[in-house]
Amino acid sequence: MARYIFITGGVVSSLGKGIAAASLASLFKLRGYKVSLQKLDPYINLDPGTMSPFQHGEVYVTDDGAETDLDLGHYERFVGIRMSQNSNVTAGRVYSNVIKKEREGKYLGSTVQVIPHVTDEIKHLIKKGSSNVDISFIEVGGTVGDIESLPFLEAIRQLNMEMNDSHTLFIHLTLLPKVEVTNEIKTKPTQHSVKELRSIGIQPDVLLCRAKDTIDENTKNKISLFTNVNKDAVFSAQDAKSIYEIPIFYKNQKVDEYILKKLKVPYKKSVIRPWVTFTNKLNKCKRKVKIGMVGKYVDLADSYKSLNESLLHASVQNNNAIEIDFIDSEDIAKRNIKKLNKLHGIVVPGGFGNRGVEGKILTANYARINNIPYLGICLGMQISVIEFARNILGLKNANSTEFDLKTPHPVVSLVSEWEDNIKGTIKGNIDELGGTMRLGAQKCTLINNSLVHSLYKKNIITERHRHRYEVNNKYVNQFNNTDLIFSGYSGKKELMEVLEIKNHPWYLACQFHPEFTSSPIKGHPLFNSFIKSSYETK
Ligand code: GLN
Repeated sequence: MARYIFITGGVVSSLGKGIAAASLASLFKLRGYKVSLQKLDPYINLDPGTMSPFQHGEVYVTDDGAETDLDLGHYERFVGIRMSQNSNVTAGRVYSNVIKKEREGKYLGSTVQVIPHVTDEIKHLIKKGSSNVDISFIEVGGTVGDIESLPFLEAIRQLNMEMNDSHTLFIHLTLLPKVEVTNEIKTKPTQHSVKELRSIGIQPDVLLCRAKDTIDENTKNKISLFTNVNKDAVFSAQDAKSIYEIPIFYKNQKVDEYILKKLKVPYKKSVIRPWVTFTNKLNKCKRKVKIGMVGKYVDLADSYKSLNESLLHASVQNNNAIEIDFIDSEDIAKRNIKKLNKLHGIVVPGGFGNRGVEGKILTANYARINNIPYLGICLGMQISVIEFARNILGLKNANSTEFDLKTPHPVVSLVSEWEDNIKGTIKGNIDELGGTMRLGAQKCTLINNSLVHSLYKKNIITERHRHRYEVNNKYVNQFNNTDLIFSGYSGKKELMEVLEIKNHPWYLACQFHPEFTSSPIKGHPLFNSFIKSSYETK
């Protein structure tokens, strides 16, 4: 039977519970245990798919097409296991299931209540997400004390009560602020946060204390005394230069060993080498490579979380130190386009809606004619098609119907808008906005003698999608005999998945999102090559 480790957060949000959970899970996975991770999100949306990236950061897409919280990206990158629909449970999902059951008459005439019906559903979904593993890590989103989190905390309290003592463990990640004038670390907010947890029946077993530096023995003693947490279970979670150092911090303090003993699972030897190798390499990277990310959500770095991580992974593979310049595409115009010249490579990431699109088209054009390495992702590929259609094929005002419904040349459009509608032959077919998106891992065939084929070294690859619009199949022939080749497609060439430009140092764009599958240890073939070329052509 699985052991459950619950991770809650206190005092303030954004302390890095996701990274803490992922780092610990990684230590157990490296020791040879079978682990799973799950994120419980207390908001009412069914999933974050419809939330603005400004509010919630990136939407992370799993192989099976779930639109999830960005913490799941950390889980995959740190632990190397695949997340699924079951890995992210929102209050919206829980309530929707409960209401569905009520309509189906599953509650036999009883009054449907938070306790036990909602909490039972939460427990059911937790168990479903933890089947066939040794240790399951459950991160509870939000901050202890929030109204929304209460049913989730109540459910995990019940699970603890129902199970053998050694089968559950509570970790609380908390903040120790420092009063700069007196140079004093303050434990009071942590005391209160734990008090709050205890008042709802949860006694944390382990405290991870976020602070700028490691905390001393006196502070640990004090925290232990006031929180009823064993002194040996009060650990430092100091600021790290890179998030990938965090598993090493935990391992050095023997956090995982403490947990192992508490959970009474058979001992397996610790392995930490992959993280040490990666961080050593990272710390030695001195040769700077400067990448411009020209997008719409540039004010919040979390909007492009996986992309930022993928660029970092690829730079480490190439012994480069990365600097990402976030550029608002709305600020790009003909008069100032030359400022892109200082960049070694340009990424146009995914996005929705027409704000800033013309700036992206100018950017793609500038990268193409000035031989600056260019990587277009999802919308970034559609932008390339529009740019090329306008400027090389001479299709005036070519556009995507997402941005201009009346364009004379809808080179990018919904499949249902194509004249010879091939709807039905395409997985995740696209009928209308607000309906379905093409989501999750899908196969793509790569053509021989292409750049993309030389990078993946495979004929068929699988990558994840999240979009509604496609390159309009009706226009594809018009690109024949130009420098733009469609080097990846799906099905029987119904959908174009990759394009590249010949006679250019490195210009590649893909309809899928390679950033979701990059790993710190290996990087990702597309990013690795993009960074290499950016550095070499600088
Ligand atoms: N807005 C575009 C579409 O829906 C691109 C989406 C994306 O970049 N993820 O097709």
